[in-house]
Amino acid sequence: MHRVDRRGFLGLAGAGAGLLALPGLSMALQQATSPYRRPKLKITDVKTAYVGAHGPQLHVRIYTDQGLIGQGEATDAAVGGAALIAGWRRFLIGQDPLNVEAIWERIRTMGIFSGAQGGQFTTALSGLEIALWDLTGKAVGLPVYQLLGGKVRNRIRVYCDSANHHPDDPKAKEKLKEIEEAGFTALKIDIDEFGDPNRFDRVNWTASNGEIDRMVKEVAFVRESVGKRVDLAVDMHGRYDATTGKRVAIELEPFKLLFLEEPVPPENVDAMRDIRQSTKTPICCGENLFMRHGFREVLEKRAADIIMPDLQKCGGLLEGRKIADMAHTYYVPVAPHCVVSPIGYMASCHVCAAVPNFLVLEWHWITRLQAWKDFVNEGDIIEKGWVTVTDRPGIGVEMNDAAARKLVLRGTKWFDEA
Ligand code: MG
Repeated sequence: MHRVDRRGFLGLAGAGAGLLALPGLSMALQQATSPYRRPKLKITDVKTAYVGAHGPQLHVRIYTDQGLIGQGEATDAAVGGAALIAGWRRFLIGQDPLNVEAIWERIRTMGIFSGAQGGQFTTALSGLEIALWDLTGKAVGLPVYQLLGGKVRNRIRVYCDSANHHPDDPKAKEKLKEIEEAGFTALKIDIDEFGDPNRFDRVNWTASNGEIDRMVKEVAFVRESVGKRVDLAVDMHGRYDATTGKRVAIELEPFKLLFLEEPVPPENVDAMRDIRQSTKTPICCGENLFMRHGFREVLEKRAADIIMPDLQKCGGLLEGRKIADMAHTYYVPVAPHCVVSPIGYMASCHVCAAVPNFLVLEWHWITRLQAWKDFVNEGDIIEKGWVTVTDRPGIGVEMNDAAARKLVLRGTKWFDEA
């Protein structure tokens, strides 16, 4: 009697299926992926516009010879971006926009002597890269998440950045409740306060006992004002010295924060690591770091529990995915910093949908809610504190020009119009 074990059975089945099906499948795949069959596009122009929302935000449009237009957005260090992109225009015209990595790498390496290590250079490149992905997705008829490896989740958890943390503000409690009732499961407050009367020095940010008491009271106030299910994150904006950072992180331990963000500036990774090692409060950093290179030391030195690359700044969507993948090898989750319009926001959501170690995505437009709803034709993309990542090609949301233009930064041209 012949015994067919499991391995033998599978081998036989595989061989049989191959004989019957593979040649046809192979031929179909080769035809479908032939480089001569995919869309042949050429970049014909690139234009920019500044919107004044959370600081100046740079919108990028890439035009092609077949009428397709890609849109991207850069932020925070975006103020010189229009000039940088205008400088890249001559190189971009005539390029195949679907070679996103090649264009990104060429601009980056061309700029090694002109600041391509971070700052405005990498921020402008991020806006351009996002527009290239939007264009690629539209050209091949796929959402961006599909081009980044496919999605591991459909919905993106959003945290609401809120300034309603002052116990003396009569409306703060009510507003916090509104945020909770709107469906948000996490929120963030800022506890660095330039005008704190407990400060003894206008320049030095070593916190006095009075300041630290004020910070603890604010965190306690917000913690008590919302239900336990709502996670609370706290930002110190990298303003304080190492001792203050440590003291605050330890004082806030009872509140079981989602994270404490940048208690010290980002440049000295050892200082961040020392704070992390001194406290049970999870430490998050990275909104001012650029590309994989910026995050390497943070991860290698175990300086953060959570990292927060800004995808409109750190190098773009694919670079964001690479940073997240690097973090994943250290079992570090990613909570991207995000302050942009629904265009950049949905672009970020495609990355958040594609990376396994995504935690939560920042949202910073609660004080400009109408502008948020009007900015894209799709309306409000956040539903009950979550974004369902779209299946439309490219980023999948389109700017409502008339509404967005109302926010144009004074003194600047709207996509280079005269
Ligand atoms: Mg921050």
